[in-house]
Amino acid sequence: MPDPIITRFAPSPTGPIHLGNARTALFNWLLARAAGGRFVLRVEDTDAERSRPEHAEALMTDLRWLGLAWDAGPDRSDIAGPYHQSQRLPYYSEYYARLEADGRAYPCYCTPEELEAARRAQRARGEAPRYPGRCRNLSAADRERLAAEGREPTLRFRVEAGEIAFGDLVRGPQTFRGEEIGDFIIRRSDGTPAFFFVNAVDDALMGVNRVLRGEDHLANTPRQLLILEALGLEAPLYGHISLLTGFEGGPLSKRGGSLSVTELREAGYLPAAVTNYLARLGHHLESGELFGLDGLAEHFAVDRLSRAPARFDPEQLDHWHHEAIQAAPLDELWDWLAPALTTEVPPERREEWLAAVQPNLERVADGEDWARVCFGEVAPDDAAAEVLAQADPALWPAAERALAEHGTDAKAVTEAVKAETGLKGKQLFKPLRAAVTGRASGPELGALLPLIGTDKALARIRAVKGG
Ligand code: GLU
Ligand code: ZN
Repeated sequence: MPDPIITRFAPSPTGPIHLGNARTALFNWLLARAAGGRFVLRVEDTDAERSRPEHAEALMTDLRWLGLAWDAGPDRSDIAGPYHQSQRLPYYSEYYARLEADGRAYPCYCTPEELEAARRAQRARGEAPRYPGRCRNLSAADRERLAAEGREPTLRFRVEAGEIAFGDLVRGPQTFRGEEIGDFIIRRSDGTPAFFFVNAVDDALMGVNRVLRGEDHLANTPRQLLILEALGLEAPLYGHISLLTGFEGGPLSKRGGSLSVTELREAGYLPAAVTNYLARLGHHLESGELFGLDGLAEHFAVDRLSRAPARFDPEQLDHWHHEAIQAAPLDELWDWLAPALTTEVPPERREEWLAAVQPNLERVADGEDWARVCFGEVAPDDAAAEVLAQADPALWPAAERALAEHGTDAKAVTEAVKAETGLKGKQLFKPLRAAVTGRASGPELGALLPLIGTDKALARIRAVKGG
């Protein structure tokens, strides 16, 4: 049996997750789900200065909201845990020691100033700056002397000249040259691990065998492959997806219309809107249908990931938001609207009300508007007032009588008004709706009248008639 596919999302908790990161998480989740594999969440928090526990908490809240559950992660640890890198330092020591013992890594005593001077000299000669190899072949005595000067060494990985080739899942065959990479730091002088190292080692230790990530990490990949090879650890297959750019083509920014996942949630977007939008951003999905996550997984394929930059388009997001509202089960619709409601919706009328207003919801605030129309007080808005101003005044006494006689049976009411006044079509329905709901458009009167009730409808008719 082939190994199960294991993917991961490995965010650094240095800020809120934006759409680009969320898309990376989603693609990895879909890839695992499509293959019946596992999805792991690893928090890359070794940068103590920039990492914050509250960012880690927030990103888990965001992932949960999107529905991207993880099989293992900080709160669901297992044999391969812990899943906070800051809690894994003892594991890394072992691998550092192994590389040093094998001569694959060595202490480098160069100071930042010395390295900077070397880079400047290389640039002046028109060479690409890379570590000049000063500490590559130090004797034990040299090391002792440099350490005695109070220099805290970094640990460098020794990169031999030659080709490093791999097949990228998205971008096809890639080749790099060792001599262009130069020996690189895998542990800083303060003892903290470098990103390349822990990211690669943890993928191997956690059994991760597929990695989809942003193309900004493509150049890290040859280094990571070298580390894993030197340690005799299995490397995942990497696929580098195009970066998400802002609406105007530049980097993602708020100005370009892009928000963090938290902000999108707070702005009232539904998770299905975000996932359906992102699943089509830089990934060719044949169908234009709104899918649940399992449906998206069924339609997900790595070979349909695009190399072209993906541009954030707020209109597309709104399109999926509209679709998501129309498709939402009533209980989800309620969970979405409830926090923004100040007008009470009687629990026994909740479903009827939701079903009536669903086609007319765009924003979360629309819920409160329709709750007020049905269960609170409303004055005609501008559009309704315009309709009322043009209405035939004969309508109102007839409507009053019809309502008193037929109650909330909208069909019987309109029939009676029609019979009495001779008005029909738009001349009849539009002003009647405007008077009873205070709105010129929206759900059918037939759906709203039973929710509004006879007394309130009568009062609204009388208000129009009297005024
Ligand atoms: N912590 C890294 C980041 O957020 C992970 C990169 C990767 O997916 O390998 O950029
Ligand atoms: Zn050095």
